[in-house]
Amino acid sequence: MALQRRHCVFIGRTTREVWRNSVTHLVTLIPGDGIGMETSAAMQEVVAASGAPIEWEVAPAGAACMEEFGAPLPESTIEAVQRNKVAIKGPVTTPVGTGFRSVNVALRQALDLYVNLRPVMSIPGAGGRYDDVNLVIVRENSEDLYAGIEFEEGSAQAKELIRFVEESGAGTIRPDSGISIKPISVTGSERIVEYAFQYAQKHGRNKVTAVHKANIMKHSDGLFLRVAREVAQRYEGAVAFDDKIIDACCMCMVQDPSQFDVMVFPNLYGDIASDLAAGLVGGLGIAPGANIGKDYAVFEAVHGSAPDIAGKNLANPTAEILSAAMMLDHLGELEAAERIRAAVRKVYAEGTCLTGDIRRATKSDAAPATCAQFTQALIAAM
Ligand code: NAD
Repeated sequence: MALQRRHCVFIGRTTREVWRNSVTHLVTLIPGDGIGMETSAAMQEVVAASGAPIEWEVAPAGAACMEEFGAPLPESTIEAVQRNKVAIKGPVTTPVGTGFRSVNVALRQALDLYVNLRPVMSIPGAGGRYDDVNLVIVRENSEDLYAGIEFEEGSAQAKELIRFVEESGAGTIRPDSGISIKPISVTGSERIVEYAFQYAQKHGRNKVTAVHKANIMKHSDGLFLRVAREVAQRYEGAVAFDDKIIDACCMCMVQDPSQFDVMVFPNLYGDIASDLAAGLVGGLGIAPGANIGKDYAVFEAVHGSAPDIAGKNLANPTAEILSAAMMLDHLGELEAAERIRAAVRKVYAEGTCLTGDIRRATKSDAAPATCAQFTQALIAAM
């Protein structure tokens, strides 16, 4: 939703009022939990300093919602994103093994956010292994092993499924197995690969690489590869295409990431390769992302809630701040987005005020900055 209003822009440390007629974008902010509270607050300060006309509607998610709403993802939060169309989200903790299902997966499914877009770029001074990483991960976001279709070991459904598999002659399954289903559809594969090619064309990129394990999983990954090849034919002569098997692909990404441009993955491989790619450029602290569907977009960093450093003012807010820059691009606020990215490049190049994760990545003995100090350095650099 866009509001016509006069607004005031805060630039640097001085509060400069710039009255003008412009459109204010109403954006849903889901701060999340863990370090999300710190990184989201930092992101809001930086967006305000960029001059972007954003108004926030804050909506909760996570374990803290269980008591008040009876669910970790309240219906009112989904409705807020549907109303405003655009959201930015901090990370949300998912209990491992037991407890509620992932809020992130539920939100992506509820809003059909079928694209997970993760640009990975070197930032000089951030401690990356290479100076020239510039690739884009397009991860399918709605199916695969992430669909959450699972059968508990020993349950009646698991037993029934095992009986069906064995009677159909497909193979044998040990009776004490838990089972997760991996659905990969023609529809899901076609729209994600199509998005990857469209993205490549729009952003002047030369090649799309489809990543899979089609040699082993012929009816899921094999289908993904077949559809990817069919889509690639529509772009022949405009955007090049190749494919890689996921395990070999990981080795190639570590050895020479410059051979990749746009990469399109089924859900789980994309999840894993995103963290690998973040590791190439300095770590999760600087890796931004977005969940995009036909109607809605939810921007969020690649990293999780980092319980080991939460509440200690140690988090690096760069990933969420760069996710906000992607959001501003999406909203057409290109100047503000570039102002933020330029400030990030400047602060990293200067190297005097960087958080602990980057000090470790750069093997520097210099004292780490707190999340708040780093945020102020960014604002001062704008
Ligand atoms: P994580 O990304 O939270 O942390 C991995 C490591 O990276 C930790 O050592 C952490 O301190 C560090 N790290 C991450 N982000 C950082 C930052 N901004 N600044 C400095 N250091 C940072 O991964 P995890 O520990 O596997 O997951 C923790 C929780 O987050 C889990 O409950 C998981 O399910 C959840 N998670 C949520 C999302 C999301 O909300 N989109 C994504 C991934 C994981």
